[in-house]
Amino acid sequence: MFSGSMDILVIESPNGLYKSSSFHVRFGSLKVIKSKEQEIEIFVNSKKTNVTMKLSSSGDAYFQYDESCPQINQQNLYDKEIKENLKEKDDLLKNDYNLFKKKYKSFFPSSNQIKELNLKPGQNEICFVCRTSSSGIQTLKSSIYLWPHNSKIVISDVDGTITRSDVLGQVLPIIGGDWTHEGVAELFTKITKQGYKILYLTSRAIGQSSMTKKYLDSLIQEKKSLPPGPLIMSPDGVFTSLKREVIERKPHLLKIPVLSELKNLFPQDSKPFYAGFGNRETDGVAYRYLDIPLNNIFIIDTSSRVLRLGETQKSSYKLLADKVEEIFPLIDN
Ligand code: CA
Repeated sequence: MFSGSMDILVIESPNGLYKSSSFHVRFGSLKVIKSKEQEIEIFVNSKKTNVTMKLSSSGDAYFQYDESCPQINQQNLYDKEIKENLKEKDDLLKNDYNLFKKKYKSFFPSSNQIKELNLKPGQNEICFVCRTSSSGIQTLKSSIYLWPHNSKIVISDVDGTITRSDVLGQVLPIIGGDWTHEGVAELFTKITKQGYKILYLTSRAIGQSSMTKKYLDSLIQEKKSLPPGPLIMSPDGVFTSLKREVIERKPHLLKIPVLSELKNLFPQDSKPFYAGFGNRETDGVAYRYLDIPLNNIFIIDTSSRVLRLGETQKSSYKLLADKVEEIFPLIDN
């Protein structure tokens, strides 16, 4: 099993509470972790924080709450089973509090824990440190982004949308020559200059996170690189069974729950997703599901021709870059 940690998105709500996307942190190379309470330290921008996680025997890190934590009543639960257990327990709770000192696992920190991370606006570096006597010190790094609740987000698929091939990118991370769609770096850079945030979404597994990040960072076209943004991946540990059944053949089914989770970070009636880029019809289905307007959905083919949904004529990233002010009007922020 591979190690990796996924980028994280944090949104500060208008009432000052913080919500984060799930912390997917996997120490896959630690063979067997026998000690039950192995602690994971968290560093942000090279500073140690007071926030810690625990490590499961499978190598996945999690936060632990007891039932007094209000978060237990929200959606942020480790899995459905716990939710169902809790329902049963609600009645029993009335009888005796002491019976239920059970701990609950979650991939989400509480708002107070997020506050303790001391994030600065925009991109921050987060580092997860595991110290064991058998395997020494192991670290995993990723980015954690603090964005305002009124952010306008442009989602981009990675394989086939930034890279030319849907498959090749998965197998060969970096091959020489022309492995990307021309003009993508310029277009995305221009979009961010208009005030939008870019979010990269891939159905790659978490074990490929550092490889995929390097790969996106290494992309340079005409001296332009891709703008920074969270790289959100397939939380394979969580959805494994579901994935086996349906997602393998229908990748948009994976994107919908992942994007829905992100949407839930924002105030209820807001529409944080402004536009979406993909290379498959199913990307369009997922983006539509997330309320992205039809003509803000862009599907690129293997010949780098871009179809703006609702239109018949195909365009290109270069042509879109020329029209960026019209499609992505300037946001004051
Ligand atoms: Ca794709």
